[in-house]
Amino acid sequence: MNEPYIGRFAPSPTGPLHAGSLVAALASYLDARAHHGTWLVRIEDIDEGRAVPGAAEGILALLEQLGMHADGEIVWQSRRKALYQAAAERIALHTYPCGCNRREIADSRLGFAPDGAAIYPGTCRHGLAEGRSMRSLRLRVPDPGFDVISFQDRFAGEVTQRLSGESGDFVLKRADGFWAYQLAVVVDDAEQGVTDVVRGADLLDSTPRQIFLQRVLDVPTPRYLHVPVVRNELGEKLSKQTGALAVAPGDEQAAVAALSDATRFLGLQLAPVESLDAFWRAAVPAWANLLRERA
Ligand SMILES: [Zn+2]
Repeated sequence: MNEPYIGRFAPSPTGPLHAGSLVAALASYLDARAHHGTWLVRIEDIDEGRAVPGAAEGILALLEQLGMHADGEIVWQSRRKALYQAAAERIALHTYPCGCNRREIADSRLGFAPDGAAIYPGTCRHGLAEGRSMRSLRLRVPDPGFDVISFQDRFAGEVTQRLSGESGDFVLKRADGFWAYQLAVVVDDAEQGVTDVVRGADLLDSTPRQIFLQRVLDVPTPRYLHVPVVRNELGEKLSKQTGALAVAPGDEQAAVAALSDATRFLGLQLAPVESLDAFWRAAVPAWANLLRERA
C-alpha cells in the first residue's frame, strides 16, 4: 500500500511559464505520479502588485497542453486572504507590529538573508517607538541557541539555518498590505494537506523559515525536494523575461521537446519519443528509478 502523497506545483503568475519553472513543474508532477499520489496546482498570486494579467491562465493552459493535468480545483492565493488572516490571528502572541522602513532596516547593516531581504535587527520587538505606526507584521524567531532549524531535503541533503542570524524576525504581513509569501505558502500547504513539496532550489533558503512557521502554527511539516535552478550561459537564474517556452497551442512536437529538455536537466535518461503519451509513459518510471538510485 502506498503512503498518502499530496504534491503541488505553485507558480507565481508574473509571466509565462519558462524553462526553469517547467523543470519545477515537471519534477513535482513526476514525483506525484511516481508515488501514485495527488498533484495540485496553486496560483501564488498573493503579491498582487507583481501578478501579470493573463499570466496564470497562460500557465494553466500550457500545463494542460503538456499533459500535466491537476487533480482537483486550481487554488488562487488572492482568493484565500481570510485563511491567512485567521492564521495570523491564531499566532498573534508570536507576532508584533513593526514600524521600520526598508532604509532603517538596511542601515542596521546586519546583512541580508539568502533571499535578499535585509536581516531585521529586532528594533520593534518590545513595542513601537513613540510616534511610529505599524508598517508590517513580524513573526518573532527564537533567540540564538534555540533558533537552529535543520531538515533533510530529498535532493539537497541536510540543510541547517540559524534563524536569528540568517533572517531575523520575518514579515508575515507586508507594508503594502499584502500577506507575505512565507505565511501564504505555509497556510496553503497545510490546508491542502500537502505531504511533499517539490520545487526549485531558489526556495531552499526560505524553507527553514517555513518550517519554523509550521511549528508555531502547529501544522505538519511536509517532505521537501528542491531541484536545481536552471541557469543561462552566464550562470544567471532564468527569468520570465529570458526563458519563455516556445510552445504554440497544438504543437505536440514542441511540447515533447520542451519536456525532454526539462527531463534531461533533471538527470533522467530517456530514449527519444515522438508523442506526449510516449513521453509520460517513459518519464514516470524513469523518475521512480532515479529516486530508487538516490535512496
Ligand atoms: Zn521595526
